[in-house]
Amino acid sequence: MSRGDRAITYNAVKYVLLVGDGMGDYPLKELGGRTPLEVAKTPNMDKIASCHVGLAKTIPEGMEPGSDVANLSLLGYDPRQYHTGRAPLEAASMGIELGSTDVAFRMNLVTLEQRSKDEIIMISHSSGDISTEEGRAIIATLQDKLQVNGIRIFPGVAYRHLMVWSNGPLAARTIPPHDVLGQNMAAYVNQSGNNPIPELIRLSWNILRDHPVNISRRKSGLNEANSIWPWGQGLPPSLPPFFEKFGLKGGVISAVDLLKGIGISAGLRSIYVEGATGYLDTNYRGKADAALEALEDLDFMLLHVEAPDEAGHAGSVEEKIQAIEAFDQEVVGRVLNELKRFERYKVMVASDHLTPIPKRTHTDDPTPIAWAAKEELERAQGGEFSERAAQASGLFFENGHELLPNLLK
Ligand SMILES: [Zn+2]
Repeated sequence: MSRGDRAITYNAVKYVLLVGDGMGDYPLKELGGRTPLEVAKTPNMDKIASCHVGLAKTIPEGMEPGSDVANLSLLGYDPRQYHTGRAPLEAASMGIELGSTDVAFRMNLVTLEQRSKDEIIMISHSSGDISTEEGRAIIATLQDKLQVNGIRIFPGVAYRHLMVWSNGPLAARTIPPHDVLGQNMAAYVNQSGNNPIPELIRLSWNILRDHPVNISRRKSGLNEANSIWPWGQGLPPSLPPFFEKFGLKGGVISAVDLLKGIGISAGLRSIYVEGATGYLDTNYRGKADAALEALEDLDFMLLHVEAPDEAGHAGSVEEKIQAIEAFDQEVVGRVLNELKRFERYKVMVASDHLTPIPKRTHTDDPTPIAWAAKEELERAQGGEFSERAAQASGLFFENGHELLPNLLK
């Protein structure tokens, strides 16, 4: 029996949350004072926005702007109450069990340029988008050679890996590497004393300097993974199950461990999609189809696409517009089209936070969101999904974690 003629009699409402990571931005001179969202062709997000559009503060005052805090908010969890750090969420995604005194650290492989003892520049937070294969070869060597009591190292994807330190330094000062691109980190990495992280970073230099992966990247003129960079640490999170909170069986689709980890920690089903890379070349269609497939028996789906954020970190206006247009067409458009087979549904599209091109990192500015129900979309016209239109609507969610309960209401 093919999909088309299946008598679907769902009376439950299907809820879909579509997140284009870091889509929000500032007006750019090179775009004539418009933003990438304003310039990008986004007929599908515009259609949703014609029903309801507004701004949400997904990063509470004083909290570190990032996808962990922002997506906890979008999933209806108050980050002030439930956020314990980025790395424990990623550990959940990697299936790494954390004990109550285990401190998990995100461990990036980065490129540092040591011009002198006092001039050590953060060249790349991703070792020039190193591949997973190369990254894992480096991690295997670190597991073998970086022997420090209580520390375990776990391989992840590309430049994103994990370090677990039992009874580790939870309060140690660490720095998100994408926040200091191009900056001199000598003062931080040269320090010794009660912060053990800089010393750990320095320990990795001799191990990595002539690693075969780096020798071959050096020959090809690519950035080398010549240093580890631990950050985003925390103890294991304890989120009340999503089903208990909202009475909905849910799933999550994302290429990045952080989002999968948030989903798994909230009791959502994490659905694997072949070819989901977290970059511009990700499998947009595959993600949309997998989400629709899963909605056959789930009530709620969070579908997250990382590509616009990576373009923001890279400072590429062109790639950001490309990523936004692909998200709108291949994900939002496809989902809107196929959702029609369900009797009742509500869809929300969101930029979890801004990753402005001029800043090349996340900010805590209120971010654009829009939503609509099936019956509203059937008569929808015009509309615009952009920062300016969201602002002009006057709709503002001071507490981003109240947005989803509002949609589910
Ligand atoms: Zn994000």
